Amino acid sequence: MDKIGFIGLGNMGRPLAERLIKKYKLYTYDLEKTNLQYFTHKGAVACSSPSEVASKVNHIFLCLPTSSIVETVVNGDNGLAISAKKGAYIIDMTTGEPEITRKISDKLKEKEINFIDAPVSGGPKGAYHGNIAIMIGGTEEQFTKIKPIMDDISSNIFYAGKIGSGHSIKAGNNLLNLICRMATFEVISLLVKDGVDPKKAVEIIQKSSGRNYAIEITLPDNILSGKMVQGFSTGLMKKDAGVATKIANSNDVDIPLGKLSQELLENTIDEFGENADMSIVALTYEKLTGAKIRP
Ligand code: NAD
Repeated sequence: MDKIGFIGLGNMGRPLAERLIKKYKLYTYDLEKTNLQYFTHKGAVACSSPSEVASKVNHIFLCLPTSSIVETVVNGDNGLAISAKKGAYIIDMTTGEPEITRKISDKLKEKEINFIDAPVSGGPKGAYHGNIAIMIGGTEEQFTKIKPIMDDISSNIFYAGKIGSGHSIKAGNNLLNLICRMATFEVISLLVKDGVDPKKAVEIIQKSSGRNYAIEITLPDNILSGKMVQGFSTGLMKKDAGVATKIANSNDVDIPLGKLSQELLENTIDEFGENADMSIVALTYEKLTGAKIRP
């Protein structure tokens, strides 16, 4: 059985690693012991540092909160760079910052270690079902080399372009998701105030020109079902929209809708904090408008 390393086994890392453990011997590391135990029960080896993971395998996946944490895990004390083998691949599935990604990649190149970005979109559900979108930044040669392993995770693997391109596209995607989500809650609140049943509005708009991810997935699955759990925190969304803003600033591009949607998200974070689930944004709209969207 081939060996693979996986670091960062939280909401998103866990279902991605679940795909890999079906076929590979996993060497894992996470700051949370319970996340490690979950996989040791399934036959994985729990390592005591990133460096230990790197000493055991040639392919290491990362799914960590931010690029600065990735930088520490790679270059910090007991980091991957200490014992990663020549020719090894570090595949960063974090929703990260293209600029930091390019910097890490350049530094590792000197040691003949490949560092590529491979962020994901489609949430834990998409990962479990093996159809999450994975957008890969690196050379075409690197893409071709790791494609077979990526195919074991999902049927939707894309080559995004040069190093950092995956992270750029992912940041753009999440800003678009935030803008559409806020616009959708605004319109559904308005319709509820006008006496419309939110389930009817969602059912009809799903087949009309205003449809988007919030109408097709977020509202029916997480809000109208009353579940109110999406598995994606307000803090992570703030970080992702912030990455898109940094890209806009460095290219001197104005993003008025992006700015407004981030201000609206800030209202939710002020009230519920950065660990709240993104579904909680519905409550902010209910408060703002007096419309009851949830059952
Ligand atoms: P999470 O907070 O649930 O998981 C992060 C994991 O990383 C935790 O288990 C934590 O213990 C671990 N960790 C943090 N610092 C560490 C360190 N220094 N060394 C080792 N482990 C460390 O977050 P998540 O929702 O799994 O998100 C992970 C990444 O995936 C983020 O960049 C996020 O933006 C992205 N993402 C998440 C989703 C989602 O729906 N949750 C969807 C797409 C992308």
